[in-house]
Amino acid sequence: MITMKFGGTSMGSPDSLKNVTDIIRLNLNEKPIVVVSAVSGTTDILIEIANLALKSTKGYQQKLSDLKTKHFQIVEKLFPADSNYKLDCIEILNEKFEVLTSYLTGINLIKELSPHSFDFISSYGERLSTVILSAYLNEVEIKSTFLMADQFLVTTDQASNADPILAETKKKGKPMIEKIIKAGKVPVITGFFGKSKKGHITTLGRGGSDYSASIIGTITNSSEIQIWTDVSGIYTTDPRICNDAKPHSLVSFREASELARFGAKVIHPRTILPAIESRIPIYIKNTFEPTNKGTEITFDERKVPHTIKSIALKKDVTLITIETPEMLMTYGFLAKVFNLFNEYNIPVDIVATSEISVSVSIESKDYDKLVRELQKLGAVSIEKNLCIVAIVGLGLRGNLKLNAKILDGLAKLKIEAKVITQGSTQNNFSIIVKSMDAINAIQKTHKILFSKND
Ligand code: ADP
Ligand code: ASP
Ligand code: MG
Repeated sequence: MITMKFGGTSMGSPDSLKNVTDIIRLNLNEKPIVVVSAVSGTTDILIEIANLALKSTKGYQQKLSDLKTKHFQIVEKLFPADSNYKLDCIEILNEKFEVLTSYLTGINLIKELSPHSFDFISSYGERLSTVILSAYLNEVEIKSTFLMADQFLVTTDQASNADPILAETKKKGKPMIEKIIKAGKVPVITGFFGKSKKGHITTLGRGGSDYSASIIGTITNSSEIQIWTDVSGIYTTDPRICNDAKPHSLVSFREASELARFGAKVIHPRTILPAIESRIPIYIKNTFEPTNKGTEITFDERKVPHTIKSIALKKDVTLITIETPEMLMTYGFLAKVFNLFNEYNIPVDIVATSEISVSVSIESKDYDKLVRELQKLGAVSIEKNLCIVAIVGLGLRGNLKLNAKILDGLAKLKIEAKVITQGSTQNNFSIIVKSMDAINAIQKTHKILFSKND
């Protein structure tokens, strides 16, 4: 068995859905389990609709009707006019839109949107796209059944960033999925969400369909997990930032995890862990260039060249600095600081300390209460509108000259490095810069690291 995940752009138009179908057909011998994202842009629109419904009656209804039209247009173009599968598909989509509409009407009436209601609404993109792809596979004579992941993917109760409970997910999901495969069908499963034991629909974080694929690949003991997207693997940086970025054929799990953690959208940060624990390789492949081998993410670091792999960009970062002379020679100060971050559930990206201060970078915007507590420990300053530029690769180890060359390159462009850190494993060298400098910083660093002429 293999698990194949198709992202938003792969699901985004009738033509790309036909590509997806061709790719699945070519892999039928491998007994594919298919996991899908919403049609591109849908989750953003659903979130907008939910927030609009909270405020007024007008805007959200129009947006909902546009979203419906978009899905029905895809169906109209994809299926032949006289298709029975098309009729079934339309019926199911209509049912889903009815549920969504009544839910939104409720939110609009009582003017309340709880975090779990928000997740319930966000899950609809995947519920719709799964139905369309599964029906189309049947249309082109690939037997298929769709499966909504809330039937088996058990998660913690935390809204918008839930974690899977793997043992229970396996107990429920493995027999369900195997039954479909034994019946000679391709399961098409929703990515992005599951259900908590309390019965709430929970999402796994934005971009979380990759994570779903890795969870599903793990519980079914798939021999590989394929992430099909709109680029041919992991590149030397986001190809949208540098058009001369090049793909890698092999990257280690550690490198891919660091890249994802520092914002490389090509893979969701938590995707790697379940796969590495069960030693399943992950491949990143291009739906629009299916013969390209893409990138293999391997757990076997010995196979991987010890080079610098890529530069990631994490946007919307805030730097919180706590300064106090008490830090000098006292034990337990840092513990107090990090306990507070933990208490307020705010993940920390980069930490830099001096004799009397500690600076911590975070992504969250919800830090007012935390700051009030931190102020009891020392003087707190906050700097917003920053980005992390993270250089990642096994080849960074012991290569201090290179770090100096990068900083020198940035200084020549008058780009101020606010914080500079090297991860303790030396696979990561990160620089915090102002948001307005980030693209220049990446383009310059990319030139220094990957172009022969710099
Ligand atoms: P999907 O909808 O298939 O999940 P995403 O948009 O989430 O696709 O991720 C793919 C995008 O990731 C690419 O289009 C690219 O712009 C971006 N990206 C960021 N960093 C990298 C990188 N190092 N290599 C390749 N793509 C990257
Ligand atoms: N549709 C979800 C999102 O846009 C999950 C995903 O695409 O991976 O965040
Ligand atoms: Mg993605």
